[in-house]
Order: sequence, then C-alpha cells, then structure tokens
Amino acid sequence: MSPAWETILNTLGALRLNESMARHTTLGVGGPARWYFRPAGQQAIAEALQMLPANVPLLPLGRGSNMLIADSGFDGMVIDLGELSHIHEENQCIQAGAGVRMSKLANDCARLGLSGLEFMATVPGDVGGGIAMNAGAFGQQVSDTLKFIDIAHRDGHCEQIPAEDLAMAYRQTNLPAGCLVLAACFELQSDSPQAIRTRMTDMRNRRSSSQPLSKPTCGSVFKNPPQDHAARLIEQAGLKGCSIGHARISDVHANFIVNEGDATSTDVLNLIRRAQNEVQQKFGIRLEPEVRIIGESA
Ligand SMILES: Cc1cc2nc3c(=O)[nH]c(=O)nc-3n(C[C@H](O)[C@H](O)[C@H](O)COP(=O)(O)OP(=O)(O)OC[C@H]3O[C@@H](n4cnc5c(N)ncnc54)[C@H](O)[C@@H]3O)c2cc1C
Repeated sequence: MSPAWETILNTLGALRLNESMARHTTLGVGGPARWYFRPAGQQAIAEALQMLPANVPLLPLGRGSNMLIADSGFDGMVIDLGELSHIHEENQCIQAGAGVRMSKLANDCARLGLSGLEFMATVPGDVGGGIAMNAGAFGQQVSDTLKFIDIAHRDGHCEQIPAEDLAMAYRQTNLPAGCLVLAACFELQSDSPQAIRTRMTDMRNRRSSSQPLSKPTCGSVFKNPPQDHAARLIEQAGLKGCSIGHARISDVHANFIVNEGDATSTDVLNLIRRAQNEVQQKFGIRLEPEVRIIGESA
C-alpha cells in the first residue's frame, strides 16, 4: 500500500513513480527515480518538505544538464523545480525562480537593458542549477552578480541567504546541506539592449563553433585544473574520439562526452575513469568531475 504522504503530494503537484531519469538529463542516460515530484509552487514545496519522512533522500533537479545518474537510478525523490518560473525586476535587480531557464533570463535582461548575465544565453540549465554550480562562461559567472537566494531547508523552513555567505568559487557553491534553491536575485548594470544582444550573439557563435551542441552531452565533464584545461590534457593523452560502449569523447571538444545513441551511465562513467587514469599517469594531474555523479563515484 502506498504511504499517505504520496496521496497528499499528488495534491501539491505531480508525483510519478519509477520515472526514467534518462528523460530528464541532457546526456539522456540514467535509471529510474523512485519518486519524481514536480511541486506546483513555493508553498507546495514547503508543505511537501514538512510532510516527507526524513529518511527519503532528496535530489533537486533543474534541467539535468550537469548530472550523470547511475543506471540503477536514484532510490529517493527527485524534486523538479520547473514550476518556479517567475521573473520580477526592480531597480536594476532581477529576481528569478529556480525553474527559469538561464537562456530566458538572459534574453529578458537584454530586453530590459540589464547587463551581467549575458553568458547565461549559452548555458542550458535553470537558475537553481546555475546557483548550485556557480555556472559561468566567457569570463562571467553567477557569483559576479548574485545578491541573495531564497532557499527551503529539508524541514520546509524557508530562508533568504546573502551571496557572500555562500563561499562561491569556480563551479562551486556552499549551499546549506539538503536545501532547495527556490529563487535568486541578481544586481545588474544598465546598458543598451543592442549592445547586450551583440555580446550574447558573439558568445553563442563562439560556442557553436567549438562545442558538439547538436548531440546529447552534459557540457564540460571535468573542471579545468588550475592554469590548465581539461580538454588539452585529455587530447594530449590521446583520448579525443575514444569511445566505450556508445559513449564517446567528442572529436570537437575533448572535455565533452557525447551519447552516440544508446549509451548507458556505465559507459559514460567508464570513460570518465579512463580519462582520469590516463591523464593522471601521463601528467600527474587528477581531473575532478564537474558533472554531478549521482549513485556512483568516479
Ligand atoms: C551543451 C552544454 C553546455 C554547457 N556549458 C556550460 C558553461 O558554459 N558553463 C557552465 O558553468 N556550465 C555549462 N554546462 C553545464 C550546466 O548547464 C550547468 O552546470 C548548469 O548550471 C546546470 O543547471 P541545471 O539546471 O541543468 O542543473 P542540474 O543538472 O539539474 O543540477 C546540477 C546540480 O545542481 C543541483 N540543483 C539543481 N537545481 C537545484 C536547486 N533548485 N536547488 C538546489 N540544488 C539544485 C542538482 O541537485 C545537481 O547537484 C553546460 C551543459 C551543456 C549540456
């Protein structure tokens, strides 16, 4: 018999059982989540969290563009924050729900003549995922303009946290353990919409000529080591184009792993481990995954 809280969650949003995570990650791999919950809004999230048994593991999900979920899946609850999609602007500060696509936010900012988030036009995640990862590109990153975030703790209690308390660094944000980011506020500079759009177009063009954007990937697999580039190290280790199963190190950009069609998480993970081992042997550098690996370790 299903627990009573499952029935209540269905009134607070949409709950699915054994949902394939391959459908919800840009790499297109990953086994089932035992529970997949898309709350209807912020209030529903707080209520759901207050009711959930403390022993149910939670996994917040944005666009799944930086996640590798094991073939065995996730034995807990994935929380899809896609309904938190509000955007509000006041005095050069823009507030966005965790479920807003970063590309949409960048376009809205351009229309409003607000500069600082241009890079988001090229990153295929949501605002919540962008905060958790401190996403960045072309010399900009989330932490440059972030003012504060709204979060829900595991017990449903909500709180506002100033950016300076998050110790944000390269692809890293120290969020309180187990919290969900609900919204973020960015403080931006005014500029002409035309100048902002020109910068965004330039970034998109540079990206499309240097990355395998037409194929399923999770973006950069590894963080760049200090003063170096993971792609250079992988290429110099002779791994460009190397494949395991249906996962392949991209011929276009060696820090991307491409799902050639029927790849499994295990294929991708084995390729990650192979790149780590060969780069370690050849250069004495341990590559640290940027992609969040769920249910296994690299
Ligand atoms: C083609 C491509 C290009 C990319 N280019 C870049 C790039 O230039 N720069 C860059 O930084 N990244 C890049 N990425 C990686 C990815 O888009 C970013 O890391 C992005 O910020 C992830 O957002 P997401 O919503 O997809 O997060 P997800 O992949 O869904 O989640 C990533 C992590 O954040 C956590 N998380 C998600 N939402 C929340 C929330 N609301 N509260 C708490 N935790 C949360 C998840 O649990 C997980 O640990 C690229 C990816 C692809 C596929």
